[in-house]
Amino acid sequence: MKTFCGRANPTTGSMEWLEEGEDYDYHQEIARSRYADMLHDKDRNVKYYQGIRAAVSRVKERGEKAIVLDIGTGTGLLSMMAASAGADFCYAIEVFKPMANAAVKIVQKNGFSDKIKVINKHSTEVTVGPDGDMQCRANILVTELFDTELIGEGALPTYEHAHKYLVQEGCEAVPHRATVYVQLVESTRMWSWKKLFPVHVEAEDGEKILVPPSEVENCPGLPSVCDIQLNQMPSSDFSTLSDVVKMFSVDFSKPVQSASTYYRVQLEPVKSGKAQIVLSWWDIDMDPSGMITCTMAPYWVKPTSALQWRDHWMQCVYFLPREEPVLQGEKLYLTACRDEYSVWYSLQKARADEEENKADVCVESPVCRCRAHLLWNRPRFGELNDQNRTRQYIKALRKVLKTDSVCLCISDGSLLPVLAHYLGAKQVQCMQPSRIDLYHPHELWQAFFKANNLEDKIKIIEARPELLKPSHLEDKKISVLVGEPFFTTSLLPWHNLYFWYARTAVSTHLASNVTVLPHSASLHMMVVEFQDLWRIRSPCGTCEGFDVQTMDDMIKDSLNFRESKEAEPHPLWEYPCKSLSEPQEVLTFDFTKTVPQQCLSTEGSVKLSRKGKSHGAVLWMEYHLAADISVSTGLMQLSNEKGNCEWNPHCKQAVYFFSSVIESEILSDPTAVTYAINFDTKTGEIAMDFKL
Ligand code: SAH
Repeated sequence: MKTFCGRANPTTGSMEWLEEGEDYDYHQEIARSRYADMLHDKDRNVKYYQGIRAAVSRVKERGEKAIVLDIGTGTGLLSMMAASAGADFCYAIEVFKPMANAAVKIVQKNGFSDKIKVINKHSTEVTVGPDGDMQCRANILVTELFDTELIGEGALPTYEHAHKYLVQEGCEAVPHRATVYVQLVESTRMWSWKKLFPVHVEAEDGEKILVPPSEVENCPGLPSVCDIQLNQMPSSDFSTLSDVVKMFSVDFSKPVQSASTYYRVQLEPVKSGKAQIVLSWWDIDMDPSGMITCTMAPYWVKPTSALQWRDHWMQCVYFLPREEPVLQGEKLYLTACRDEYSVWYSLQKARADEEENKADVCVESPVCRCRAHLLWNRPRFGELNDQNRTRQYIKALRKVLKTDSVCLCISDGSLLPVLAHYLGAKQVQCMQPSRIDLYHPHELWQAFFKANNLEDKIKIIEARPELLKPSHLEDKKISVLVGEPFFTTSLLPWHNLYFWYARTAVSTHLASNVTVLPHSASLHMMVVEFQDLWRIRSPCGTCEGFDVQTMDDMIKDSLNFRESKEAEPHPLWEYPCKSLSEPQEVLTFDFTKTVPQQCLSTEGSVKLSRKGKSHGAVLWMEYHLAADISVSTGLMQLSNEKGNCEWNPHCKQAVYFFSSVIESEILSDPTAVTYAINFDTKTGEIAMDFKL
């Protein structure tokens, strides 16, 4: 079987479909999987174990045999817990073949082969009967099928089916119930992930304000969940307008309905403000009494004793369809609509004349019609709304633009062409290379230009850089070439170096005295100790007394599947870390010249100047726009005493996890980490190697 994997090519800015061997998919999935994170989630594991023990006891007290159905067994962990707790037999269902194979090995290694039958099927394919996968229906249903949104991984249809076909009526369920909580908040920061705020530009002839067209203003945005580590959101970045409210709950021990429905609660704002965002999280009760609870509540809600870091379950940010001014004490209804896999929210003012105004209850799932939410993802909205950043670009543009400038901007969904026009460039064109094949943003831009009286002022060239013709430029040469640079196909920070390739492709169209903005870029690197992120790539050994090393080995194999280990993108504002070395510039890229034929390599060493565990290196790009004006997509600030880092909140940084994480504690004199970094100009990829 052949697998085709989509991969952005940083030298062309476009997606390419590469043929991979059949192992590829699964190695990717295992290497980047959440299994390690789940196995490190002590709070989760302990509570599942308690809940499973209690359920087995209840069944035994009734004098019944305990027959367990574990849907999505993964490593087999929950089935092994059940078997240890005295269950008579467990059916462990796992759809993902490599995991089902691993579960068989792990179950065997832990001596449970006679009690646990691993079935490599989707639960809806499982059969019951004398010749079936299961001899009889189970009376204990154990699952862990939840994502941050609770239902996004298909828990509801899976439960619905299991109650119909796989478990007995009145079965015990672990978890017993899940409850979803919400809190209404006002937050300019989070709202800036959905809306484009007006952009103010101080031009020669007065202030210009770029406003989004009404289609964008009124668009409900995207249905996809926005899940974040809400515990990293400082309380100064939002203001709570309501108490925490129970939105809905699901009892897993009874038949579950997955069909679309809605839930409604009454709210009274605790203060007046602008309702913009619904923050949401859930908890699961492992037993009917509610004594064993695992909660995702954020820091301002839960007791510190319940703090457990995890990345496989976080919190959700929902954007209301529109901002709604609310008054303290007024009566509001918050409605949660859901389908089988996702949830969305709307807010209604209670009317005096009717108890429930059902007409506007069931709003359809948010669909972006304005196209801006397809062009810009949430972090990108945040970046475009970052006024400090915009100011840097304005300052730099002002330095380089002249009234006779012929300007070409190469970046996806960029506002730079508008800024260049406002700042007086005579002719402005733009290219959005990696958006060409995916989606034609023409209509959106026309709406933008119309809303700002910019029709015919900025020309969108719908060609790739290598196909640029003099006629696209009205037979003029480009005197100012600009880019943020930003491309939607970029996964790792250096993929935006596609700007350099595009610049090379349009070389013949550049005036001899062309100004390129940014004129150069640099790659920076720093060794860090993560507060928590290390868990996702760290071996587990034993989990609640069960040997899961098979899983560790499997992850290690998958990580080593590619010849050189790869860096992975993470938004580090969500993952606190401490710098152990000074940040170091490791490579520079000169955009005033074309991409060279030969690779750019560097070798060196960094001194570990602070005590700590070296979990890995963080790498990011900085763009040098003009003399003294640079923007960083990584480190923004470093507090020197403690080494706490502040990261660009709109960008993902590259994280390279060292393979010997545990051994890297630095106790005495400055140790050095040596590195070798190579930018392959043919592929646009950066390979690296570190030695501790
Ligand atoms: N139970 C394990 C793993 C949980 S991860 C633990 O708690 O540590 C969830 C697993 O369920 C994944 O491995 C996924 O492949 C599997 N899965 C999800 N839905 C499933 C279904 N309907 N049938 C079978 N497996 C499923």
